[in-house]
Order: sequence, then C-alpha cells, then structure tokens
Amino acid sequence: MDDYISIATLNDYIFCPYSIYLHNVYMETDESLYKATPQVKGSIAHEGIDKKTGSTRKSDLYSMPVYSDQLGIRGKIDIYKSDKKQLIERKNNIKKIFRGQIYQLWAQYFCMTEMGYQVELLNFYEISTNKMIPIKIPSEENKKELEIFIQQFKNYNPSEDVITVNTNKCLHCIYCNLCDKTTYDNVYT
Ligand code: SF4
Repeated sequence: MDDYISIATLNDYIFCPYSIYLHNVYMETDESLYKATPQVKGSIAHEGIDKKTGSTRKSDLYSMPVYSDQLGIRGKIDIYKSDKKQLIERKNNIKKIFRGQIYQLWAQYFCMTEMGYQVELLNFYEISTNKMIPIKIPSEENKKELEIFIQQFKNYNPSEDVITVNTNKCLHCIYCNLCDKTTYDNVYT
C-alpha cells in the first residue's frame, strides 16, 4: 500500500504539483521549517480528532484509517457518525471550498463505501462559525473525474513536467522559502 496516494495531498496537488515533490523531500524534517500559521491552526483543529476528543458518542468514529484498492488511495477520515451515516471533514475557516477539498471528501467517501460502510451524508464543518456545509454524494461521473485526477497525480514527474509558477500561489505556499522555483518568501514569514 506504500504506493497508494495519500488523500491529504490531493488538494495540494491541485494547488501546485511541485509542492507534492517538496513535501516528500522535507517530510522527515522539522515541521516548523515550513509550516505556516494557517497550517499549524489546521493541525491543531485536527488534533482533537486524532486524540479522539470532542465527543463521547459510541456511534462516532474518529480519525479512522481508510483505503481504496480500486482508486489506489489511502488516508484518514475526520468523523463518521454511524447513526446518521454521515461523513464530516472539519476545517478551521472555509472562505471557499476548492475542488481539491471536494476530491478529498469524495476520496474518503469511496474508501468508506468500498470498506463496507454506509455513507448517506457528506459535510464540511467550519469550526470558526460552527457551520455544517452539505456536499452532494458523488455520482459515477464524479468517480470517473476523481479517477482521471488520481491518474494525473500518479503520472506526475517533477523533473520532466513543466511547472507553471504562479507568484500569487507561491506567496501563500508553505514551501515557498524552501522552493527552488521562486525567490520569494511567503506571506507567513
Ligand atoms: S513555492 Fe510556488 S512553485 Fe514552489 S511549490 Fe509552492 S506554489 Fe509551487
């Protein structure tokens, strides 16, 4: 399962494929070298999940590892409420929902259903506003879209594929200070 793609990286790949390469290069290093404030807050938001705090309901599953052999992906869900058949992904702030974030939730959904869990509701939950945001259950067409995207991800080659450097993205990229494609510093330093 080592070559399975991590669900957590799907959104990063859309943001900039090269960031996946940098993530793999620097993953063994001290996170403080590159993690910026929004990412630190995100990690803290997920800490409650990983430590399984926040609810004592027996019907709630937290931070459960999931995988899909069909899609070649693996990762963790945030919360699954088995009594409501509801899958929830928590975020600190949601100004806009990006396609990559939808792909992450779809990916979790397909893993869960392949593993035999019933999922009838998909939600993002915005912690700062205590708001639930419903997302449609993915269709077969959506699954094909996700499969094509995952294949692109698997085929990506940082030494051969052309990288389009978008300064605006670089300024908000946590790897900016370590990236050889730009001389900028990100806005978090
Ligand atoms: S700094 Fe720019 S080019 Fe480098 S990984 Fe980040 S977004 Fe991509």
